[in-house]
Amino acid sequence: MKKNCGKGQSIEQGPADREQLRLKVIKALSADYESICSIDLECDQIVFYCLSDRTSVISDQCFQICRFSWYISEYADTWVYPEDLEIFKNGVLPDSIRENLMKDQPYYIHYRVLVNGEIQNLQLNFVNVGSQDHISQVVLGCRRVDDEIRQQTEQKRMLEDALEKANLAIAAKNTFLSNISHDMRTPLNAIFGFTSLAKLKLHDLNAVQSYLEQVETASRQLLDMITEVLEISALSSAAGPAEVECDLEEIVGEVYNFLLPQAQEKNLAFTMDCSGLRHSGVYANQENLKQLVLNLVNNAVTYTEPGGRVMLSFKEEDELPNHYSVYNLVVEDTGIGISEDFLERIFDPFSREKNSTLSGIHSIGLGLTIAKDIVDKMGGTIDVKSRVGEGSTFTASLCFRVQPVYCQADKERDIAASRQLSQRILLVEDNEINLEIEIELLENMGFIIDPAENGKIALEKIERAAPGDYDLIIMDIQMPVMDGWQTSAAIRRLPDPVLSHIPIIALSANALASDIQKSKENGINVHLSKPMNLPVLLETIEEITGKHCFSDNN
Ligand code: ADP
Repeated sequence: MKKNCGKGQSIEQGPADREQLRLKVIKALSADYESICSIDLECDQIVFYCLSDRTSVISDQCFQICRFSWYISEYADTWVYPEDLEIFKNGVLPDSIRENLMKDQPYYIHYRVLVNGEIQNLQLNFVNVGSQDHISQVVLGCRRVDDEIRQQTEQKRMLEDALEKANLAIAAKNTFLSNISHDMRTPLNAIFGFTSLAKLKLHDLNAVQSYLEQVETASRQLLDMITEVLEISALSSAAGPAEVECDLEEIVGEVYNFLLPQAQEKNLAFTMDCSGLRHSGVYANQENLKQLVLNLVNNAVTYTEPGGRVMLSFKEEDELPNHYSVYNLVVEDTGIGISEDFLERIFDPFSREKNSTLSGIHSIGLGLTIAKDIVDKMGGTIDVKSRVGEGSTFTASLCFRVQPVYCQADKERDIAASRQLSQRILLVEDNEINLEIEIELLENMGFIIDPAENGKIALEKIERAAPGDYDLIIMDIQMPVMDGWQTSAAIRRLPDPVLSHIPIIALSANALASDIQKSKENGINVHLSKPMNLPVLLETIEEITGKHCFSDNN
C-alpha cells in the first residue's frame, strides 16, 4: 500500500505498518464505539476488533473469526430485550443489511439489552467498506445511546404536552367562537328585527318608542359582550394596577345601586353591609375593584331564582403594620348553586355550566376569569363555596393601603358652588355619523358645541381661542391628519397656561387598558369608550370641570 504525503508523493507501507495503522484507527473509533467488528456477508464471517463486556462473553478474543449467523443468534438470545428481538433479528439479516446499504446511506438499528436487570439503549451502525454493486464487506460499530434516547423521549414528551395544550386551547377557542357567535347573533337579530319593525310603523310613535327601547337593550347587551372580551385581553396584557385614592363603601354602593333594579325585578332580598369597614378610604385600582365587585354581584343576582337572597358585604379583617389592612369582600346568594365538577374550572376562560341557549341567560363565561385576574393582580385570593340548589359564596381577600380621612362633603360643596348652565365644548371627531349623533345629544343637554373634524383643525382652533372660550374638549383618538393623542399632547404644550389646561375627555373606540394608559401619558384627563354613554359622560364632565351639567333630567 502506498501512503500519500501530498504533492503526489507516496511512501510504500509494509504489513507491519498497515497493522499498526489499523490498530490506531480502531483505538480512535473505540472512543465512540464499545464494539467494532467487520463482517463478510458472503462468507458468513465476523471478525472482532474491539470488544465490549457483552461481546466478550460470546467471543473473548480480538481478531477472532466466527460465523456471523451463529454469533448474532447467540448474542440475541443472551442479551437483547425480548420486546426488541424481532427488530434486532430482522435488522441484522444479510438481505436487510444489503438492501439498506444499497441506498448509499448510513444504516442504523436501535434496540435495548438487559444487563444485570438494567435496560441499556444501543445503536448498531453498519458501514459498507466494499463494493457498492455487490455489498459484502461491512464494518459494524455498536455504541450506547442512553442519553440520546432519554433526550429524545423527553423531547417527545414535551412535544406531546405542547400538543395537548394547543389542542385544549383550540377546543376552548372553538367553544368560545360557537358561544360568542350565537350570543352575538341573538342581540344583532333583535337590532335588525326591531329596526325593520320601527321603519314599518313610523306613524305609530308608541310602537316606535318600544322598538327603539328593544334596540337599545340589545345594543347594550352586545356592548357588554365586547367589553368583557376586551377586558380579558387587556387584563392579561396590562402591567400592574395603578393605585388611586378610592372609597370601598362608595364602590360597593355604586354596584349595589346599579344592580338594585335588576334584583328588585326578580323580587330578591338584596342587601349590602359595609359596617365592618373601619377604613373605607384606601389606595387601589378603582376601576378594577369596581369590575370585580360588579362581576361577582351580577352573577349572584343572575343565578338566583326570584324570591331568593343576595348579600354583599365588605369587611376589614386585620390591620397590618404600615397602614395596610386586609379586607374580605363576600358575595353570598341562595341561588342555583354550582356543581362540584364545575367548581374546579369555574375561573377558566369561556367556561359556563349551562350554555346560554339552555339556561336562557346571556353569558360568555368570562366574568369570573376577569374577577380572578383582578384579584391575582392585586395580590389577593378568591375562593368559592357552593352547593347545587342551595347557593354560592364568593370571598375575595384583598390587602390595601389605607388612606387618611377622605372628605366628600367639601368636594360636593365645591361642585354645587360652581354650578353653571351652559358650557362650550370643542368636539373633535372625524366620523360624520358619530359627529352628528354626539352634537345632537350634547346640544340637547344644553352644551354649545364647536366641531372639529380632525386633531389639526382642533389644535388650530385652540391656538386661536381666547382663554375661557372653551370649557372642555371631547376628543376622538383615531383620526386622519393628527390623532387624538398627538393633538392632546400638542395642546398640553401650548404656552398659554389657561388653554394648555383645558380639560380633555377622550371618547374613543380604543378601549384597551394600554389605550387608557396612552391617553393618560398624553395629558388626557379621562378616557371613555364608545359608544357614548350619556349619563357617564355628563357625570365625567361634572367631575372634571366642577360645573353642573344642564339636562332635562336635572
Ligand atoms: P358568565 O356569567 O358570563 O357566564 P362567569 O365567568 O361570570 O361568566 O361565570 C361562569 C359560570 O359560572 C356561569 O355561566 C355560571 O354557570 C357559573 N356561576 C357563576 N357565578 C354563579 C353563581 N353565583 N351561582 C351559580 N352559578 C354561577
